[in-house]
Amino acid sequence: MRGLMASVYGSALGVLLPRGCAGCDRPDDVLCDDCCILFGRTLARPVPGTTTGLCYGCGEYEGAVRRAILSWKDHGDEECDGRFAGLFADLACRGDVARPGERVALVPAPSSAASMRTRGRWHMRDLAARTARLLSARGIDATCLPVLRSARLSSKSVETTSAAQRAERIRNSIVVVDAMACRRRELIIIDDIMTTGSTLRRCVAELNDAGGTVRAALTLGHVPERAASRLDGNAENLLAARE
Ligand SMILES: [Zn+2]
Repeated sequence: MRGLMASVYGSALGVLLPRGCAGCDRPDDVLCDDCCILFGRTLARPVPGTTTGLCYGCGEYEGAVRRAILSWKDHGDEECDGRFAGLFADLACRGDVARPGERVALVPAPSSAASMRTRGRWHMRDLAARTARLLSARGIDATCLPVLRSARLSSKSVETTSAAQRAERIRNSIVVVDAMACRRRELIIIDDIMTTGSTLRRCVAELNDAGGTVRAALTLGHVPERAASRLDGNAENLLAARE
């Protein structure tokens, strides 16, 4: 409801006041050119269990990138959907994760029921569906396959929870609801932020167990490793991140 109200309020306000860039507040733009450049990188971190072994990121999760993602995700700035879908489509092509003529399914990372209530939607599903349409327009047979669910994941922010606690909470909370739909499919996981990678690793494991082949993961922002490592008490993650 709060998400819905934020959206309604945001739309009503937009009629009265010109909006500013989600990243830097520059007037009259959803995401200005300077901020788009910050999202135009091809960051890569290891994610075991995928055929490329990688999670690609559009930018470092700091400064304007962080502000834009938080504005979109937690403050109902749904106008960013179009820009972010375009960034994901560009990243998929730059990373050579999908080529014209290929058939792939984009699997959005799950949200908890609590955070979906707060936001009024499953933000990653909407973004994956939009990204799939953009990839289809580029000749890639892409669809959105929203098969992952999170039952008990707390909506606490990543900054306030230790990685060890977070990993433990996630351990048994991500499930595939339609294994048949995953079998022998080429899959790409779509998520907003990669912190230590524990959520992504769990998603990959569940999709592999369901018979899918996960090519890679894509995120809008990678939390810089120095910040992620502070959150992470697990030496294994540190080693994996440096490989
Ligand atoms: Zn900007």
